[in-house]
Formats: sequence, C-alpha cells, structure tokens
Amino acid sequence: MARVGFIGLGNMGGGMAANLAKAGHDVRAFDLSAEALERAGAAGCLPVESAAAAAEGAEAVITMLPAGKHVEQVYEDSVFGAADTGAILIDCSTIDVATARRVADAAAAKGLAAVDAPVSGGIAAAAGGTLTFMVGGDDSAFARAELYLAAMGKAVIHAGGNGAGQASKICNNMLLGATMVATCEALLLAQKLGLDPQTFYDIASVSSGACWSLNTYAPLPGMGPQTPADNGYQGGFAAGLMLKDLRLAMEAAESTHSETPMGARAAELYAKFADAGNVGVDFSGIIRMLDAG
Ligand code: NAD
Repeated sequence: MARVGFIGLGNMGGGMAANLAKAGHDVRAFDLSAEALERAGAAGCLPVESAAAAAEGAEAVITMLPAGKHVEQVYEDSVFGAADTGAILIDCSTIDVATARRVADAAAAKGLAAVDAPVSGGIAAAAGGTLTFMVGGDDSAFARAELYLAAMGKAVIHAGGNGAGQASKICNNMLLGATMVATCEALLLAQKLGLDPQTFYDIASVSSGACWSLNTYAPLPGMGPQTPADNGYQGGFAAGLMLKDLRLAMEAAESTHSETPMGARAAELYAKFADAGNVGVDFSGIIRMLDAG
C-alpha cells in the first residue's frame, strides 16, 4: 500500500481520507481546522502539521478544498515544493476549468503529473466510498490516479485531458439545476390544474418528462424513492453548492461564448433561493420558493 497525502478534511475530504486509510494506505492528513485533523486521526489517518508535510514522500497527493483559489494556493505554496517528482497530484475539489488547467500546466512544468477528479455524490457517498469520479488528465496520469480513486468511489471515469473532469462536473450540474427547476414548476402547475401530484408523478416518471430530478429525487414528499423532500429538505445537496456549480458553469459559458439560457435562469433562481436564507437547504427545496410565487 502507498503513502498518500490528503489536504482538506472537511465534509467530503474527511470521509474520503478515512476510506483510503481503511483500504490500507498510509494517509498523511492535513487541514487548517484542528477538529478536522482530530477526526482524521480517529479515522486511521496520521495528522501532520502542514500541507507540505502531507505532500512530502507521498506517492499520491489528494486535495479536497473549497474552491480554485485554495487549490492554486496550496499547490503553489506547499505541494509543488514538497512533492516527489514521481507523485501523482489528484485534485477532487469542484473548481473552475481554467484554474484546473493552469495548475496542471504548472505541475507539468515542475515534472509532476496531475489530474482533476471532481466527484458526484454528497457527504454520505464520501463516507460510504460510493462517489463517482470524473477525471481529466492524460492516459498514464489517469491510470495512476485510478488506483486511489477506486478506494473512495463506485465509478472512476476518464473524461479527457486536464480540465475535462471539471467540465463534466459543471455541465452535469448545470443540467441538474435546470431540470430540478423544471420538475418543480411542472409539479406545481399540475397541482394548480387539479391533478393529484402523485398521479402526475406516476404518469410523467414513465413518460417523456422522466428525468433524474423527478424519478429519483422528487422535490415533493411521499413520491418515488426517499428524498430530502421527505425530510423537510434537510441533508442532500445544499442549494449553496448548487449555486456555486451554476456560477462556475456561467463563467465557463462566458469564456467559451456559449448560449446557456436555461443554466442562466437556474443560476438566477438559485441565487434568489440562497439569498433568502436557504444556503444549507437541499436544492430541491426551491419548490417552496416557486410555490410561493
Ligand atoms: P468543506 O468546507 O466542508 O471542506 C473544505 C476543507 O478544506 C475545510 O475543512 C477547510 O478547513 C479546508 N481548507 C481550506 N483551505 C485549506 C488550506 N489552505 N489548507 C488545508 N485545508 C484547507 O467543503 P466540502 O463540502 O468538503 O467540499 C469540498 C469540495 O467538494 C468543494 O469544492 C465542493 O464544491 C465539492 N463537493 C462537495 C459536495 C458536498 O455535498 N459537500 C459534493 C460534491 C462536491
């Protein structure tokens, strides 16, 4: 088993680092938060005093940080100077495509291989080792990263060159944001037209309106599989994170001169929902805002 440096032990990284340790890796873990470090220690990792100490001597260095600026800073200030040239750098954070490509280029200039490997799946999937990883990097970097990612997830998919993992993630989540809003408004209109929402669900979920937001993650309680709607919109995927991903998608659309009218509308609606005190509420809870008009 390998020595792995893990930097960023928050809601997601904490569970992921624990799963690597469970798989037998020697995990050197670092976070700015003392509580997060303590939890990692209790989960079988070895807490270290700095990001550089986590990276030193590691065969793989994994980061799970809030945003692009954190990743770039940790790479520039700590990882690049400390990592062995044979190490594979794996960033699992959700960040903008441009930063992902820039850090991969900076790594290559220092003789280090890097991949972007953002995840689909929330905190429960991180803890349970059932994440999906979408990976950007060349074939040999992907093959090296796959070994570690497989210990933390159920699927590891090679999306293309550097940045392709982040591109997959933000396009997927832009689609999800738009289909969730569309699902909510269809359910609300059906109700206003006198249809029983469950009857509408039974019809649309096996008709051409079927989609993940309706079939698997229905935004009203009592229909389909258990969802955050059945739990007062707690848990699940926070509206604040959906808004973050939609904003990354809008930045990418602007830089590529792409027309994304549905994504743009979803970003506006999620900004309004988040601003109304719902940052931590599950993203399907937007149905309550749409219902209120
Ligand atoms: P989080 O805020 O819980 O964790 C981030 C951790 O990074 C914190 O513990 C923080 O102390 C640490 N950190 C920040 N700067 C640091 C630095 N310079 N050095 C060391 N540690 C530092 O966030 P999270 O929910 O774990 O999300 C992490 C990433 O995963 C984000 O990019 C997020 O968009 C993405 N993501 C989250 C979810 C989710 O459901 N939470 C799902 C998919 C993807």
